[in-house]
Amino acid sequence: MSKTFAVIGDPINHSLSPNIHSAAFRELDLDCAYIGYRIPKGELEEGIQGLKKIKISGFNITIPHKIEMMKYVDKMDESCSLIGAINTVTNNDGVLKGYNTDMDGFLEPFKKKELKIKDSKILLLGAGGAARAIVAGFAKEKASSITIANRTIENANNLSEFAKKIGLKANAIKIEQVSDSAKDYDIIVNATSVGLKNESSPISLEGIREKTIVYDIVYMPMNTDFIKKAKDNKATIIFGYEMLLGQATRAFEIWHGVEAPYNVMKKALLGGF
Ligand code: NAP
Repeated sequence: MSKTFAVIGDPINHSLSPNIHSAAFRELDLDCAYIGYRIPKGELEEGIQGLKKIKISGFNITIPHKIEMMKYVDKMDESCSLIGAINTVTNNDGVLKGYNTDMDGFLEPFKKKELKIKDSKILLLGAGGAARAIVAGFAKEKASSITIANRTIENANNLSEFAKKIGLKANAIKIEQVSDSAKDYDIIVNATSVGLKNESSPISLEGIREKTIVYDIVYMPMNTDFIKKAKDNKATIIFGYEMLLGQATRAFEIWHGVEAPYNVMKKALLGGF
């Protein structure tokens, strides 16, 4: 029987997920479809009823519903309670189970490229939803310490408390305080939304050590100013699209129980740029 999947959010028309998943269905000859479905803020409950009515097999959740979705699942994986948000759901005969693939998606490029996290000193820019999943990932992989730099210090402080609670040495600073200290870190991650509108890099990367891992989770545009500055300083780069792909392949595997065709999905994703 044909199965239908979806991504819900608002806005949704620029989502790359329908292309990525459809390419995988074609590659593996699966009788499935994947659609983008706009659900405005405040209409999540009715939206989900609609999805259940059409017997949706599974769906992804994006802005603005990732946190509110916690109210509407019957079960959830421990990744959701840890991160406090849901971005993937399975539907088994009306029973909805939530997962959060942000953390695994973030870690995937380190695994693929055999880049070490254990005992590394981390600088994380940003303290929003994605940053929380990233902190959980660094704790899981036993980083040595994390400095959280954010525009609003209260949000950085809260995330730093969360990091400590899950066993990661942490401190919080204002993003302006990073100044030229970026050179003291092994891994630098941009998890702010700065770059989406082609803004200049949130910090200077002048003087960072060669081979410092610089990871921008902003994926559109692909070559943000932060990435360009990292390249100028001979850093090892991880692009935002690699995290997006890591999440999509993880969701695919949760839904279909088979290994996701990574290269086909990557080609479909990069074709969307
Ligand atoms: P969020 O919860 O809204 O957090 C946004 C973060 O950006 C906050 O730390 C915010 O600081 C900071 N920020 C916003 N505007 C800023 C500015 N002008 N200057 C300095 N800091 C600023 O968003 P999110 O869900 O964490 O997502 C963050 C970004 O990651 C988005 O661009 C999203 O597209 C991207 N993302 C990518 C992937 C992927 O797969 N590659 C996955 C998830 C998210 P304050 O605390 O001061 O507001």
